[in-house]
Amino acid sequence: MATTLAETATNADQAFDFDLFVIGAGSGGVRASRVAAALGARVAVAEEHRIGGTCVIRGCVPKKLLVYGSHFAEELQDASNYGWTVEGMSFDWPTLRDAVLADVTRIEKAYTATLDSHKVEHFHEKASIAGPNEVMLASGRSITAKVILVATGAWPVKPVFEGSEHCITSNEVFHLETFPRRVVIQGAGYIALEFAGIFNALGAHVTVTNRSDAILRTYDESLRDRLLQITMARGIEYKFNCPIEKVVKREDGAFDVHFPGKDPIIADVILIATGRHPNVGGLGLDGVGIALGERGEIPVDAENRTSCPSIYAVGDVTDRVQLTPIAIREGQAFADRVFGKGHATLNYDFIPSAVFSQPPLAAVGYTEGKAREKFGSIKVYSSDFRPMKNVFGHRPERGLYKMIVDAETDKVVGLHMIGPESPEILQAAAIAVKAGLTKADFDATVALHPSMSEELVLMR
Ligand code: NDP
Repeated sequence: MATTLAETATNADQAFDFDLFVIGAGSGGVRASRVAAALGARVAVAEEHRIGGTCVIRGCVPKKLLVYGSHFAEELQDASNYGWTVEGMSFDWPTLRDAVLADVTRIEKAYTATLDSHKVEHFHEKASIAGPNEVMLASGRSITAKVILVATGAWPVKPVFEGSEHCITSNEVFHLETFPRRVVIQGAGYIALEFAGIFNALGAHVTVTNRSDAILRTYDESLRDRLLQITMARGIEYKFNCPIEKVVKREDGAFDVHFPGKDPIIADVILIATGRHPNVGGLGLDGVGIALGERGEIPVDAENRTSCPSIYAVGDVTDRVQLTPIAIREGQAFADRVFGKGHATLNYDFIPSAVFSQPPLAAVGYTEGKAREKFGSIKVYSSDFRPMKNVFGHRPERGLYKMIVDAETDKVVGLHMIGPESPEILQAAAIAVKAGLTKADFDATVALHPSMSEELVLMR
């Protein structure tokens, strides 16, 4: 029977300052630290920025709160249809910004308290790897550990062009001093579409500009088309095949954004959202023989071990799936395996994901195109409907749900949804897809009426 670290600790282990040293206190690093400590390991973690990492400090959490904040534009507009009179309606960016930032600080404190309550020592400085079992803090202190875990996440990258220093990334967007009237967003992925929705709903004019002719490349084409159609009708402008050439600061403080062969446009804020690369700068990986992969990631095996046996990596720095719940699961599984009795490795099939655009879209499994490649013969079901709330609010916007079924087994191998609350609905439906349920199982389930999710069991 497997034993826990506490049961197997030897005098040799005690010669190290810690059993585990984690570099990076984000989603993966905090989970690994807490679980390893609970299993009896002596744990330390170093974080050069704030405890909580991208998701808590400058990602999922503050973004979702801004999405909630911006939804009031539609809700307040709808209110009069329901008999409410809302007088003197106005929006104040500093109030929303500061409330969101205060909540971020609250969660940061909760994360810090979790580390403290598990007796995880934390260092607020950069750490690099000095050897297979040695970490060097920026302050010059050397620390030894039996195991080192790299959980440094990813960092936004800006393409190189003249004037790029005037542009911000998702790191800075939560701190804007004033609300911009005109926003240019480069990129058409998750961050671009989510912030296009937020700025648009809050009243800014938004232009999304991408190097290619697509948005959200990995999602099903029908949903992408629907999102494009709805957001254009809401006033978002798109420029495709149109990378930024240069940005020039104007005398009035705004910027001229130039594109090859096109007229420049004026912007108060230019947000670059062209992907996030593994955060490996200054980590000292070379010194322990860890060679980076093609995308600058730390290559790891199924157990998250690097080519150096005492060093592991989890989360975005491995660039497998850049999603918070994956980093958390990898951190948990790593700690269970290395310091507990766990054996599990992660199964990366059927990971649900969502884009909190307006409307949001959510998906699990194969797109129609990928399913045809994989299964050959498939059946596609869809429901194209106008949510009750939109009908009552006189909005023409329609939701679209699409189900992809393997024709041979009748298993549902893909679900794709765009419409209000689709991420909330998809999470539950993803359980059925992950469990391998069939179209007949969906059909056998009675509809919950009136709801949007009932469309899932009514597709014929
Ligand atoms: P994405 O990978 O989603 O999108 C990048 C966009 O930038 C694409 O439109 C791509 O164009 C374009 N692009 C890529 N490289 C360049 C370049 N060198 N020059 C110009 N354009 C370029 O990245 P994001 O920054 O939006 O998000 C990073 C990651 O963060 C995501 O992959 C996601 O995993 C995670 N995230 C998840 C969220 C969620 O779960 N809701 C929310 C926010 C982020 P092309 O069309 O050619 O591909």
